[in-house]
Amino acid sequence: MSNVTLTNICKSYSNGFNAVKNVNIDIQDKEFVVLVGPSGCGKSTTLRMIAGLEEISSGELHIGNRLVNDVDPKDRDIAMVFQNYALYPHLSVYDNMAFALKLRKMPKDEIDKKVKEAAKILDLEKVLDRKPKALSGGQRQRVALGRAIVRNPQVFLMDEPLSNLDAKLRTSMRTEISKLHKSLGTTFIYVTHDQVEAMTMADRIVVMKDGIVQQIATPQEIYDHP
Ligand code: ADP
Ligand code: ADP
Repeated sequence: MSNVTLTNICKSYSNGFNAVKNVNIDIQDKEFVVLVGPSGCGKSTTLRMIAGLEEISSGELHIGNRLVNDVDPKDRDIAMVFQNYALYPHLSVYDNMAFALKLRKMPKDEIDKKVKEAAKILDLEKVLDRKPKALSGGQRQRVALGRAIVRNPQVFLMDEPLSNLDAKLRTSMRTEISKLHKSLGTTFIYVTHDQVEAMTMADRIVVMKDGIVQQIATPQEIYDHP
């Protein structure tokens, strides 16, 4: 079953710039797909259209067989992890993770269960009372992941989630995100300009250049025929 399908997706910004041109990608259920390519090639724009944060100029976007071009971001069964984490500085780790669930009026005991489950998976149990500024870079990144996990989305979207971390932490977080993907059993769509990240994490890699898809292949295929 195909989970996220982009059919002839285009994006023209209001200044007339064509950032994404006729993109076709068929993402399978539970697949880890990485969009890779140089800065400015249209990766973020593509991801933001999937998230519903950017309007689609033409083409069709399906998530779980539903046409979602005009569906509100919060009704898309997705969660997005941003590069800058977008944590609330005045809220504790617990409340950062609980926030979206409170907005959705989920019962308190259910919220508590979800937040504690996520904290366990992400090794955040001991820092639930802390504010973001009292966390390490890796912990902040894990809180951002936790905020997505508690919502149980069918699809996780990540835009350069590791680019603010130092090289050593980036390597260990790569492994953590791969493990997380396996344990959650959901679809991951991940944007990076880092080819090593793409090669080590992806089931399939989508190579973009100048707003078009240049190649879609497994890391093995790219390794064999670069
Ligand atoms: P990437 O994520 O691959 O770095 P982006 O999707 O962010 O690329 O941007 C693709 C192109 O679209 C870039 O040339 C960028 O300058 C342009 N762009 C992004 N946002 C806008 C906007 N709001 N208006 C006009 N052009 C934009
Ligand atoms: P939280 O910020 O705690 O996640 P919400 O999810 O309700 O709370 O929405 C707050 C902000 O999160 C929005 O302004 C939007 O930028 C972002 N957001 C919400 N839903 C989505 C989504 N489905 N995909 C990507 N970003 C989202």
